[in-house]
Amino acid sequence: MPASTDLRFDTGRICLDLLATEGARLSAAPVERLDGTARLDQWLHRTGVLPEREPLTGDTDTLLAEFHALRALLHRIVHTELDGGRASAADLERLNRFAEPGPPALRLERADDGRLHRRLAGPVRPEQLLAAVADDAVRLLGSAERELMRECEGPTCDMVYLDTSRGRRRRWCSAAVCGNRHHVAAHRARKAGQT
Ligand SMILES: [Zn+2]
Repeated sequence: MPASTDLRFDTGRICLDLLATEGARLSAAPVERLDGTARLDQWLHRTGVLPEREPLTGDTDTLLAEFHALRALLHRIVHTELDGGRASAADLERLNRFAEPGPPALRLERADDGRLHRRLAGPVRPEQLLAAVADDAVRLLGSAERELMRECEGPTCDMVYLDTSRGRRRRWCSAAVCGNRHHVAAHRARKAGQT
C-alpha cells in the first residue's frame, strides 16, 4: 500500500492530481504531499507538465506558493460544482487568469538513442507551469467529461477522480487505499457482529 505522503497520480487528470496532493482532508490530520520544492519538481515531471530531463529552475519557493493557491482555488470550484452548486464568477475568472498564459510549448525530437522525446521549445515562464494545470481544468470542467468526476466514498477522503471504469462503478480514489480501508472496516464489523 502506498504511504499516505506519497504523491498520487491516479485521478485520471492532472488538474485532479493537483487536488490529490492534499490527502485525508476530511480527517483530523490532513496530509500535505506538496510540501517542498523538491516535491513540486517531482510532481511536475511525473504529470508530464515538464518533460523529463528539463529541470525546474527560477524562484521555486514562489512557484510552490502559487501552486498551493491554484490548488485551493480548484478545490473550491470542483467541489462546489460536484455538490450541485455554482462556482463563483470571481473564482472562474481567477482560474481563467491562471490558464491564460497557456502551457509550455513542446517540440518532438529524436535523441541519440533513436527514441522520440519531448523537449521544451524555449525558456519557460513559471506562470506557464501553472497554466498547464489550469488549462487542463478549463478543458475538463468545460466539457461533458465533467460528468465523470466522482468524489471518493472514503469517510476522510474527498479526492476527486474521473470514473472511466466500465459501468461507472468506481467508488474509491484507489482500491489499495480507501477501498482497502473500507473492506478492513467492513470485515471488523462483521466479526464484531458474530460475537
Ligand atoms: Zn479516497
